[in-house]
Amino acid sequence: MRAPIFTIEYGQVADVDHSWLATELAQVFDREVIRGSSRPVPAGGFNKSRSQYLAGSFLGDLRGQAAPEAKYLGVTEVDIYSRGLTLVFGQADVGGTAAVISLARLYPEGIDGGVGVPELLRERTLKEAIHELGHAFGMMHCRDKHCIMHFSRAISDTDLKGPGFCDQHEAERLAA
Ligand SMILES: [Zn+2]
Ligand SMILES: [Zn+2]
Repeated sequence: MRAPIFTIEYGQVADVDHSWLATELAQVFDREVIRGSSRPVPAGGFNKSRSQYLAGSFLGDLRGQAAPEAKYLGVTEVDIYSRGLTLVFGQADVGGTAAVISLARLYPEGIDGGVGVPELLRERTLKEAIHELGHAFGMMHCRDKHCIMHFSRAISDTDLKGPGFCDQHEAERLAA
């Protein structure tokens, strides 16, 4: 049996329904998606001058609890960054166990969570989750801007791509 994907919420994640996300991801990656216990946002990753958390600190926390073969997707609403990048929608260890996505930059303009969070937020969340898990399954970035493995520099890139894979990445998905 294929090793499962665990989703781990960091802090409060109110705006995306876990069971919906789990069902979608289970279909894409053809394996069980299990909700793990939620964890506190890694305090050591907070950068005071940026008011953001280092994405790598979530990956480090996830690696620390990893079961062999399983994949771990952290989901958070706090804003995350990588060194050298102003912001990221997510990050993952390529071919590793850990991936993380942040909802912070996925909200449609003028919407700050709460009641009536639109379909667009769900769509973006799913795309970023597939992209980062794709990395965890060993996939690299794609030049095809419609492939889900295309790098998102801006949210407009996310809106343009996926949620499907190009032919090459589709083959990798099936082999994952
Ligand atoms: Zn990427
Ligand atoms: Zn591709």
